[in-house]
Amino acid sequence: MNTSTLHFVPPEDFHARSRAALDDPQLRRSFRGAMTFLQEKRRGQFGDEDELQHLRDLGEAVRKNALARLPELLERLEAQLTAAGARVHWADTPEEANAIIHGIAAGCGARRIVKGKSMASEEIELNHYLEERGIACLESDMGEYIVQLAGEKPSHIVMPAIHKTRADIATLFEQHIPGTAYTEDVDELIQTGRRTLRSAFVEADIGLSGVNFAAADTGTLWLVENEGNGRLSTTVPNVHIAIMGIEKVVEKLEHIVPLASLLTRSATGQPITTYFNLISGPRRAGELDGPRELHLVLLDNGRTQAYADEQLRSTLQCIRCGACMNHCPVYGRIGGHAYGTTYPGPIGAILSPHLLVLESTADLATASSLCGACGEVCPVRIPIPQLLVRLRTEANRDPHAQVAHPLRGQGAKYSRGERLVWRFWSGAFGRPAAYRLFRWAATRLRWLAPKDQLGWTKYRTPLKPAPRSLADLLRERGQP
Ligand code: SF4
Repeated sequence: MNTSTLHFVPPEDFHARSRAALDDPQLRRSFRGAMTFLQEKRRGQFGDEDELQHLRDLGEAVRKNALARLPELLERLEAQLTAAGARVHWADTPEEANAIIHGIAAGCGARRIVKGKSMASEEIELNHYLEERGIACLESDMGEYIVQLAGEKPSHIVMPAIHKTRADIATLFEQHIPGTAYTEDVDELIQTGRRTLRSAFVEADIGLSGVNFAAADTGTLWLVENEGNGRLSTTVPNVHIAIMGIEKVVEKLEHIVPLASLLTRSATGQPITTYFNLISGPRRAGELDGPRELHLVLLDNGRTQAYADEQLRSTLQCIRCGACMNHCPVYGRIGGHAYGTTYPGPIGAILSPHLLVLESTADLATASSLCGACGEVCPVRIPIPQLLVRLRTEANRDPHAQVAHPLRGQGAKYSRGERLVWRFWSGAFGRPAAYRLFRWAATRLRWLAPKDQLGWTKYRTPLKPAPRSLADLLRERGQP
């Protein structure tokens, strides 16, 4: 079975990949259909506007409270888990996180790891790192398993294989799972995947998972899932490694309840998922199941850069529901792979510049019409459009400008010429006489403009010329 994974495509090739995606009618059809489906599912969950806004107030308050006290809460989480017999590791960078996990695996002689869904492990390219060192990683979430078989990255943070058609999956299973006949029957495909994965839980030396939320007061790791693979990978193998971004902690266990409700309803339109797994330590004396060792890896990977800035800190409120992606007109047309980052769509555009650097990710913030849909559906009220504008400003800032919290890659798109153009533009707009003169000159020099439409306007449907009169309009409609 092919379990190899690919390295990230460089995010700086975003424009070329977006163009390729726009020219792929099958991909556009798949995403359009999937996005419409997910939007309707979410809408069905939030029929009561007052309840939705009340829940959003609660969710935002919980996340803001947690971020305001982040260092203290992380230390409490560590103390609680340590007291329960778990080991907590701190990783500043993907390299450190990978080395820690490899160290744990080497310490117990592990050769096989079975994974529950974890975007943090995608972020550090863990599979690739471990496979280069002779340790096989098998994704057990069905969507992740499919993209792993295809040698691809997830194209959505909640539904990794959303870009795959039934026929794609049938072909993959036929090619990679011995003895599997081609079928497009969804139930049969799911059963085949389940049967193949089931033995992996028993054979694995380590189970690895992500963490949706962590409660500092009780030292509880909260995992949300639908397939049971999360529960199996965190209980069957002797060692469980959980990896989470440092922002996932909240103050109290009870604070997770509104977040979990917002997460499942916003993500998949479910009132609740099939499984909530609450993990508070390794197996205790007298218990019949659970791992004998529990490790938690706390990953920074640039999050403290966002944390240091009062406005950008709100990026870390994210609960990874994917609703902003599902409602984004850009993501809905180009899909997740075009972004070239672990987190695509609006959340990716505001988070990736911290995880990577602004040089390679500055274009992502420009892939938005600033329609505001992402901010409107975000269950924890992250002001995504404002953050996109802020990141555009940072990318165009003078690289030598002194600012309180410079971003890595500040001024990546800085251009003296562009700055001059905008200065001229704002000068003309600010003075009526200058604007009139500019308009007079621009009208007469229109012949200098390029004939072909530029940039995204190429993909717009041209507007029909307006009817000249009411009589024309009636004639067009076939009315005398
Ligand atoms: S930014 Fe908001 S809408 Fe987007 S994934 Fe995060 S929580 Fe969900």
